[in-house]
Amino acid sequence: MTIAHWINGKRVAGTSGRTAPVTDPSTGAITGQVAMASTRDADTAISAAAAAFPAWRDTSLTRRTQIIFAFRELLNARKGELAEIITAEHGKVLSDALGEITRGQEVVEFACGIPHLIKGEFTENASTRVDVSSIRQPVGPVAVISPFNFPAMVPMWFFPVAIAAGNTVVLKPSEKDPSAALWIAELWTEAGLPDGVFNVLQGDKEAVDALLVSPAIKAVSFVGSTPIARYVYETATSHGKRVQALGGAKNHMVVLPDADLDLAADAAVNAGYGSAGERCMAVSALVAVGDIADDLVAKIAERTVKLRTGDGMTGVDMGPLITRAHRDKVAGYIAEGESAGARLVIDGRKVEAEGESGGFWLGPTLFDNVGTDMSIYTDEIFGPVLSVLRVDTYEEAVELINANPYGNGTAIFTNDGGAARRFQNEIEVGMVGINVPVPVPMAYFSFGGWKNSLFGDLHAHGMEGVRFFTRAKVITSRWPDPSHGGINLGFPENT
Ligand code: NAD
Repeated sequence: MTIAHWINGKRVAGTSGRTAPVTDPSTGAITGQVAMASTRDADTAISAAAAAFPAWRDTSLTRRTQIIFAFRELLNARKGELAEIITAEHGKVLSDALGEITRGQEVVEFACGIPHLIKGEFTENASTRVDVSSIRQPVGPVAVISPFNFPAMVPMWFFPVAIAAGNTVVLKPSEKDPSAALWIAELWTEAGLPDGVFNVLQGDKEAVDALLVSPAIKAVSFVGSTPIARYVYETATSHGKRVQALGGAKNHMVVLPDADLDLAADAAVNAGYGSAGERCMAVSALVAVGDIADDLVAKIAERTVKLRTGDGMTGVDMGPLITRAHRDKVAGYIAEGESAGARLVIDGRKVEAEGESGGFWLGPTLFDNVGTDMSIYTDEIFGPVLSVLRVDTYEEAVELINANPYGNGTAIFTNDGGAARRFQNEIEVGMVGINVPVPVPMAYFSFGGWKNSLFGDLHAHGMEGVRFFTRAKVITSRWPDPSHGGINLGFPENT
């Protein structure tokens, strides 16, 4: 099966002659070949988005909103189909796939309120008979470039707001799980979106580079690893575009001595191993403060050994990793952690998975006594590996987190309101949870990290997303009375 591009309202095979295999991570079998765009294919998609822009920009808000509502209804009714597509190519368990769609749908629902969100301001008589108003207009054709780990939710952080605001979109999904984007494109057509407003360009660096340098693309929303996020930010801004480039993460969960350790252990397991740790908001470092570490590690271990790893379609807790190469890379980190002297409490390499032997299996892994110089701490592993670090005080925990180059999410577990409040004030991280391990903001707030987790100024969705996909214009107007006239070459005065 060939997985095509979606350009101007239809599937397009492309001209590059290049394809890449797509696998089912639960079996290791190749299930399709995805078209890999050439620069020429990219230009075709960009031209379609550029041609559709003037009419879409001028489509009334009423009509645009009706289409977004229709898309929301179709998505809500048929999200089971999309979840199966995600599980088949990504491997995450079906309930988790449905969860990501629901979080994306919330952004669609937020975008349904676009008439209110982009309403302008008006001042009458700023000067005598002079009125001033401000409006927000779409920026033009925009590119969305997304990672493998959320093939539906991450694109949906951006395109609902972009489209609602009157922009046209070229989405470049991950080549590892490209089918979700195509399904979404067909749904848009069914919802009544005009051809060319939403396009899908399959591919890799060649497709991305074409989007980053094209003069027709006015804004780029990127999500992926930090080195690529930095590259995308630098390249696209140097080509005059506005860019929001969300990068990698190393998220810490602090547990203070007064915390409910059962609640904290549940949270650590859910946040550490959910989606096999392939979440940018996964907790990968647990910072145990004071003398609770032994108890906490025991409670986490007790829960972790009960987790079932296997085929995500079958009701297990955790699915496989995305590719064989990634599974081997994560297994390599486990070996490094062991030889660096961390205590390997649970070794996921020994997992007995409930699935075919060719699947990219790696079970949940737990390390204790992890040092900040070990690669299992310094690197974003992006797998089911939870590292416990031990510190004596709250201050040491904060210092450790603030010294980390990433700043996506963090959480504190405590019953001490004063400590929690101090943490939210002092921590240098973009999204903070208080007794909430994965503090992903609701759609009407904005999602984004600090430091190496985001390059750019504006975060995803919420009002920051609306600002990103629109630009402001201020209009100063005077309508002279019929009696007005006369010549005056002086500088206009404010009267
Ligand atoms: P990735 O950086 O390998 O790929 C992301 C996108 O960039 C893909 O579409 C890919 O095709 C493209 N790409 C890859 N190499 C490129 C290159 N050299 N030049 C141009 N484009 C290139 O990331 P991934 O492995 O797909 O996703 C996992 C990463 O994404 C993790 O680091 C994770 O933390 C991060 N992520 C971050 C967030 C966030 O909100 N900050 C959310 C989800 C994922």
